[in-house]
Amino acid sequence: MSPVTAAAAPSERRDRSRTLERVQELHDAPLAPLTTFRLGGPATRLLTATTDAEVIDAVREADAAGTPLLIIGGGSNLVIGDKGFAGTALRIATKGFELDGTKLELAAGEVWTDAVERTVAAGLAGVECLAGIPGSAGATPIQNVGAYGQEVSSTITEVIAYDRTTGDTVTIPNAECAFSYRHSRFKAEPDRYVVLRVRFELEDADGLSAPLKYPETARTLGVEAGERVSAVLARETVLKLRGGKGMVLDPEDHDTWSAGSFFTNPILTDAEFAAFHARVVERLGADGKAPAFPAGEGLTKTSAAWLIDKAGFTKGYGTGPARISTKHTLALTNRGDATTEDLLALAREVVAGVRDVFGVTLVNEPVTVGVSL
Ligand SMILES: Cc1cc2nc3c(=O)[nH]c(=O)nc-3n(C[C@H](O)[C@H](O)[C@H](O)COP(=O)(O)OP(=O)(O)OC[C@H]3O[C@@H](n4cnc5c(N)ncnc54)[C@H](O)[C@@H]3O)c2cc1C
Repeated sequence: MSPVTAAAAPSERRDRSRTLERVQELHDAPLAPLTTFRLGGPATRLLTATTDAEVIDAVREADAAGTPLLIIGGGSNLVIGDKGFAGTALRIATKGFELDGTKLELAAGEVWTDAVERTVAAGLAGVECLAGIPGSAGATPIQNVGAYGQEVSSTITEVIAYDRTTGDTVTIPNAECAFSYRHSRFKAEPDRYVVLRVRFELEDADGLSAPLKYPETARTLGVEAGERVSAVLARETVLKLRGGKGMVLDPEDHDTWSAGSFFTNPILTDAEFAAFHARVVERLGADGKAPAFPAGEGLTKTSAAWLIDKAGFTKGYGTGPARISTKHTLALTNRGDATTEDLLALAREVVAGVRDVFGVTLVNEPVTVGVSL
């Protein structure tokens, strides 16, 4: 397949083939408007599927033809190269919110923030601290979405997915999803599963939230970590905290033209942590102390935001069209007229700077398409 170079006006065709007769189809379609970075060139072909059957048909057709396939939900965790995607981009726009007692089933295309709001309005707990995370429900298991002390792996019971290697629709129980920090089986095998539906078990705690695990949320609410508050209040508080950090989408605010956190928090072995600590003391003096959180046997998690800041990349860093958010060091942002190459140049500068100062290599959280750091 030849690379796509021109962003010609997309041409729309419907009912083009018998197999994909209800799917909306565009050619040379710009992908930037489908991403929260608003970056990336066109796709050779863009399909939009509104039912599970359409999703499966579209995937089967692309796979049978040997065409590269890019699944797009809300585009809030994607860095697409300026040359675009030479293949079929499939936007998942399925709908389905089914609540039965504490059991919730979401179609992959449901907007995650809306689903959170509805569960909280129904008086249920379990995902209230995941309010404000953009994107689709179907993408939440991919990187085990998490924030403010909650991760979807705590409430997901099953993921229903189309398995591209076998051609079957499979139901994968939580224990087989290999969830870990910003990772899962689905992220480990990116070309295998297309998530169709996600099932959750929520908690009926008489309108109260799950115990608040995140100290900042508890502090803001004037309670101890581990206590419960009303789920409505927990959600509102998280939204307020996120808003102050540019972590709630706002089309008018360039600080939110991002993919949220651009880097994951590094997880270091004991030996790596000892070497890192020595660099911290060398840089910041004997009292230098980096954030450190237990992350399993012999592993310590530190803070990417802290590393970036202490390496000299403070809020608002940069003079070009891609800069660090003025509200959060972990978010790289498009100030309006950046290209993906501008963004990547900034990301590489940050990675190299942190490595020089602290000897730690940051890893990008968003998925890159046709480019790498
Ligand atoms: C302002 C902002 C704040 C954010 N805050 C957080 C946060 O607090 N915590 C957090 O974890 N993330 C956060 N993110 C990142 C992002 O919102 C999440 O990762 C979200 O789940 C991505 O969903 P999406 O539908 O936009 O996925 P996309 O960006 O469309 O896709 C991401 C990846 O998932 C794949 N994918 C998408 N849908 C499917 C599917 N149905 N089946 C198979 N593969 C699929 C794509 O191919 C791609 O590889 C934030 C992003 C922004 C812009």
